[in-house]
Amino acid sequence: IAILAIESSCDETAAAVVVNGRDVRSNIISSQIALHTLYGGVVPEIASRKHIEKINQVITEAMQEAQADWADIDAIGVTYGPGLVGALLVGVAEAKAISYARNIPLVGVHHIEGHISANYIENKELEPPFLCLVVSGGHTHLVKVLDYGKYEILGRTRDDAAGEAFDKVARAIGLGYPGGPKIEKVAHEGNPHAVEFPRPKIADGEYDFSFSGLKSAVLNHLNSCKMKGIEIVQADIAASFQKAVIDVLVGNAMHAIEKYQIDKFAIAGGVASNGTLRGAMEEECRKRNVAFYHPSPILCTDNAAMIGAAAYYDYRAGIRSGLDLNAVPNLKLGER
Ligand code: ATP
Ligand code: MG
Ligand code: FE
Repeated sequence: IAILAIESSCDETAAAVVVNGRDVRSNIISSQIALHTLYGGVVPEIASRKHIEKINQVITEAMQEAQADWADIDAIGVTYGPGLVGALLVGVAEAKAISYARNIPLVGVHHIEGHISANYIENKELEPPFLCLVVSGGHTHLVKVLDYGKYEILGRTRDDAAGEAFDKVARAIGLGYPGGPKIEKVAHEGNPHAVEFPRPKIADGEYDFSFSGLKSAVLNHLNSCKMKGIEIVQADIAASFQKAVIDVLVGNAMHAIEKYQIDKFAIAGGVASNGTLRGAMEEECRKRNVAFYHPSPILCTDNAAMIGAAAYYDYRAGIRSGLDLNAVPNLKLGER
């Protein structure tokens, strides 16, 4: 089963051809990062317009690189939520047009299901059930993947997502957008114990997360340094903040692993491309004899190959979308 997958939920215009969910024949990503950097974050209106400009070219490249003909394509998979409504609509409209014109079945895909499914691409042996920590720009979910397309959310963030915290702290210390990769880079030069930032825990939600207090602690620290005339060492703050986030993510995940006696654990989403986080998770999993999985960095951040992987399992389960498929900006995991 060959799937042409399309992703346009945020600031990457992407298309991929994926065979049987795990064999990536092409994975084309046109990133708008340089454009949005000018404004310090994603500007939705600009994102939508850029998607319109790029989408046909990206799809053509994906088809060419895969040496695929329209007759080879069994289904079109497209992200229909969650994400920016105007951005999502570009991919959805394009997918519906191709589906109608070429008479190819259409499968609407959940973006976070895509992030989780990125793990199937390079780990051919990975099958549910497993535990997955989704850490992206808009989500922080600890999820039991019960089966393909079946999820139980154990915990989620009460406020900011992990990636959002990286982006906000990066802005505060003058690193700019996107924050995650920039913080990771300078953190290598810093001391993670320079500042003891809080490791927030939620009292009434065993596996829930909270990152806005940590972000405030960083801002307060910056202000108090300024008032007292203490020099701000960017690398130390980046390293200490990153360590606090990682400690919370690792702590929560290991707690669930022990409680539910999990033997397979995966991470997903843009923050999962952070090498320091991966290293920490890997070590803790090794101690507990848990198999650890993670996608390559390019499959962690937004891409269409992961959408093709998720679309395949939806397709196999008989899921088809009609030409009335619409963008759903706040689509919940496990909902259709
Ligand atoms: P969502 O998937 O929740 O809808 P999104 O698609 O915008 O949000 P992703 O593309 O999955 O998010 O990930 C982008 C986020 O990942 C950004 O917040 C970015 O700062 C963060 N990120 C990317 N690389 C790294 C890194 N090396 N370390 C930490 N965070 C990172
Ligand atoms: Mg992005
Ligand atoms: Fe994403």
